[in-house]
Amino acid sequence: MTTRGTSTSYDVVILGAGPAGYTAALYAARAAFRTRLLGGYQPGGQLTLTTEVENYPGFAHGVLGPELMEQMREQALHFGAEIVDDQVSGVEFGQQPLTVFAGEQSYTARAVIIATGASALWLGLASEERLRGHGVSSCATCDGFFFRNQAVAVVGGGDTALEEALHLSRSASKVTVIHRRDTLRASAILQARARANPKISWALEQEVIEVLGDQLVDGVRLRNTRTGLESVLPVQGLFVAIGHRPNTELFAGQLTLDLDGYIVTQQHTATSVPGVFAAGDVSDRRYRQAITAAGEGCKAALDAGAFLSGEDWSGNVSGEQHPSTAPTIRAAD
Ligand code: NAP
Repeated sequence: MTTRGTSTSYDVVILGAGPAGYTAALYAARAAFRTRLLGGYQPGGQLTLTTEVENYPGFAHGVLGPELMEQMREQALHFGAEIVDDQVSGVEFGQQPLTVFAGEQSYTARAVIIATGASALWLGLASEERLRGHGVSSCATCDGFFFRNQAVAVVGGGDTALEEALHLSRSASKVTVIHRRDTLRASAILQARARANPKISWALEQEVIEVLGDQLVDGVRLRNTRTGLESVLPVQGLFVAIGHRPNTELFAGQLTLDLDGYIVTQQHTATSVPGVFAAGDVSDRRYRQAITAAGEGCKAALDAGAFLSGEDWSGNVSGEQHPSTAPTIRAAD
């Protein structure tokens, strides 16, 4: 095994500090497993980029995303999880114990829970890249403030795009939603809210082919996806909200990933490598909610606990006799 710098041993090492990672840390530490969470470059995950979270159960009047994540972090710390916000630079899952590298430091553990989440996708235009941070953004909550009383556009037709548009409508003078089809993918409730908002207008069946502007964005060139006709929409800000890709580059070649890079879980949260479990957006292309990520973090910690307690995971596919029902795990409840 390769070693670099200092190496420390844990029962469970968790990668990622979103709802899945923090919940896994809380459960693993509370079950008395020596637990280390490596938060990565964005502690708190995607929820630190949002304002109000209205649909996390237990908060009748909503909760701020960063506040929710801070509470989860404190709760995990309270039960003894060690949390550092180091960026993981590599992993070695070829043998037990498993090894995780973070710069010069390495950590060994018999169980690793991957909860590294997903990152925003971009359109892939050279002009978009050139003007990123100068009017092009993927986070209305972070950057909307800079476009007070200005015209902005949001690209995308999903829930994220409409949430961004609704958020921006509070301060921008006008928000245009640019979507490549004539029907939106977003949920009915968000569509109804956005359609009722007088500041939001629609550029449907349109794609952005260029972001215009020298130092700062001053417009976007659009192409009608049906007719091919081009037009220019003057805007000072462009928010790209076209989905996410899982943060799994580190695991390529070590774990089974699907064609889009999501970690394939084979039995509950177990991955293709014994002792490695996955939770949250890194393995979930369908639900991608804070509450489902937290739920999966819980499941992954219970599964890791069962693995550490010596339960046999091989060939147990019935679900009825799954080790997570074993009393050894329940004892910590
Ligand atoms: P999404 O549902 O995958 O939607 C992505 C949107 O971007 C789609 O409308 C897609 O168009 C468009 N798109 C993708 N690639 C594009 C490209 N290259 N150029 C132009 N447009 C492109 O992603 P999301 O909105 O981020 O939502 C992800 C998940 O999180 C969903 O399950 C969603 O329900 C959930 N979510 C929930 C909430 C909430 O409940 N409050 C909030 C945010 C997100 P097409 O429609 O043509 O494919």
